[in-house]
Amino acid sequence: MTTPTYLFSPPATPSLPVLGTGARFPVNRIFCVGRNYHAHAVEMGRPVDKATMKPFYFTKSPSTLVESGASVPYPTGTANYHYEMELVVAIGAQGFRLTEADAPRIICGYAAGLDMTRRDLQLVARDQGRPWDLGKDFEKSAVCSPILPIGDLGLLTSGAITLQVNGETKQSADLAQLIWNIPELLADLSQYYHLEPGDLIYTGTPEGVGPVQPGDRISGHIDRVGDVSLTIGQPE
Ligand code: MN
Repeated sequence: MTTPTYLFSPPATPSLPVLGTGARFPVNRIFCVGRNYHAHAVEMGRPVDKATMKPFYFTKSPSTLVESGASVPYPTGTANYHYEMELVVAIGAQGFRLTEADAPRIICGYAAGLDMTRRDLQLVARDQGRPWDLGKDFEKSAVCSPILPIGDLGLLTSGAITLQVNGETKQSADLAQLIWNIPELLADLSQYYHLEPGDLIYTGTPEGVGPVQPGDRISGHIDRVGDVSLTIGQPE
């Protein structure tokens, strides 16, 4: 094997700390689930009927990853920059066409994440039938806590998920309210992709999404998983 000669230095591999280890989790892909809590689907004007609908997904580029605790500039092109507090599932093994019973074996840990969103651009795209990239897949939009290894936690089926802005509670729900639970998501997503170690899955946000402004501090918490925080800086 010869080492390739690159025209310029390739970008560093995006990664996250893994709690209790000196190792980092190298991020391969970032999948996000849309409308996975009923009350959030309703607040977005698109209720979900699980009996007739399937989950849907969008992606964020791994280069959008930001570690919890960062300060990010208020992004360009928006006047309605929103937080979305989410449970993140970290994948540690390959999985393709998984059954719900078999799916949990590929989980290697969990994290608390923020799916930061340019809501105005997302809604224009949605309503015009265009891709969501400008609203979702933008720089520094995927905020994530360190990975908590699954250890004895096993499959998470409940637990409080909350978010505060400047100390005021904006989102407060429970993981038990997920429309499609973790095994259902992994089984479904793996019909479309070969899931790989390093993949992250943002599992959707509960109700109460809203805007933030420069100077605001976001802090989120998921019971037994951890905390995520973000400070909003001035626009560039
Ligand atoms: Mn989301």
